[in-house]
Amino acid sequence: MDESLVEIAVVGAGITGMSMALALARGGVEPTLLSAGPLPGPTADQPPDGRTAALLQPAIDLLTRLGVFEPVGLGAEPLYRLRIVNLADKSAPSITFDAAEIGLEAFGWNIPNATLAASLAAAIGREPRITVLEDAPLSSVVETRDRLLLRAGRERLAARLVIGADGRNSVVRETAAIGTTDKDRGQTAVVCRFAHAKPHRNISTELHKKGGPFTMVPLPGRQSSLVWVDTDALSAERLAMDEAAFRAAMAEHATPWLGEIGTVSVRHAYPIRARLAKSLTAPRRALVGEAAHVMSPLGAQGLNLSLRDVAALATLLANHTGDPGCDRLLDAYAEARDMDVKMRFWGVDTLNMLVKGSLPPFRQASSLALGLLDRLPPARRVLMQGLMQGA
Ligand SMILES: Cc1cc2nc3c(=O)[nH]c(=O)nc-3n(C[C@H](O)[C@H](O)[C@H](O)COP(=O)(O)OP(=O)(O)OC[C@H]3O[C@@H](n4cnc5c(N)ncnc54)[C@H](O)[C@@H]3O)c2cc1C
Repeated sequence: MDESLVEIAVVGAGITGMSMALALARGGVEPTLLSAGPLPGPTADQPPDGRTAALLQPAIDLLTRLGVFEPVGLGAEPLYRLRIVNLADKSAPSITFDAAEIGLEAFGWNIPNATLAASLAAAIGREPRITVLEDAPLSSVVETRDRLLLRAGRERLAARLVIGADGRNSVVRETAAIGTTDKDRGQTAVVCRFAHAKPHRNISTELHKKGGPFTMVPLPGRQSSLVWVDTDALSAERLAMDEAAFRAAMAEHATPWLGEIGTVSVRHAYPIRARLAKSLTAPRRALVGEAAHVMSPLGAQGLNLSLRDVAALATLLANHTGDPGCDRLLDAYAEARDMDVKMRFWGVDTLNMLVKGSLPPFRQASSLALGLLDRLPPARRVLMQGLMQGA
């Protein structure tokens, strides 16, 4: 069977892959998007996810440029302040970072993954520059001199550049023999939404405790999303609890900040298994999103990092003429992203280990660091700017 010739194939229609295809199209490029199943439809028709993503302003700026950021329709809520509390040391100060300190109204927004995916899919449906191939899971890649030959469901394609946005078990990465560094810290996140009596005042609160963080992120009204990271065994127990028992367990951490806990939604579990690709590129291939890096939800960095991959690669391709899969383009992408990706990955993994262990030296160092930051506004501002901009 003859292959269809395409310039750029984006593999994977998660949030990263759909953002990638849209960003390319908005820059005048015409990508083909390979989706393993159908593109996400309205939220009610999607498989349950339960996650929300706290997206910082640069990611929101990208989504705005893509025409998919519409707060009310997305059910998004702005994040004015970020609070970190070290529960391992009762005498330690908590610290609150305020977006106003760096001249911003908000650090970003908390957005349910399902509504964001639906909004991206709808925008793709309206974008004539994107060809979508549904029910086309990539299964094999063969290299020729100037193209990659792809087999994806019933489709056969010959692409000059393949962008792997196909998640943690990326076929694009595996068929390019790009190895990974894996860090299994034996943690699982239990995720849900909950109602509470007191207003959240648009403060996202991350409680650092033994086992992993307990994070409450504002949603519209008196509701928040919860990401409760702990050991696999404790998370499995909490997932198995009936609603009343789970509410009582979570109230222990949440009530001091948000008052009495009301209705709690269905819970979902996400094992946390960090993974870093050893290279962001291979001949005629570039990796973006979780195909390149998977990390703990601590500090809400994952999708923010992925959207920075998307913005960088889309900008390079929009300004490029000639073969989009050439080494020059791929080298420029790797150079643009390598440092940010590695710094975030290792930074989050190290902090995760320290928080998880909560050993006495960490407790003291953490109390000291939080205390210092509390008293030193310039240091606080540098940290916040680093958080917003990437490495
Ligand atoms: C509990 C939790 C909380 C989080 N909170 C935050 C947060 O607050 N802020 C933040 O920035 N990040 C957060 N993250 C990270 C964020 O959720 C992920 O980074 C993001 O969802 C990953 O998106 P992705 O599109 O890269 O990967 P995926 O969602 O895995 O998408 C990959 C896509 O590729 C498709 N695919 C796979 N194989 C193939 C194939 N062979 N052919 C074609 N398609 C294929 C899949 O079907 C899927 O659609 C959190 C993560 C967790 C676990």
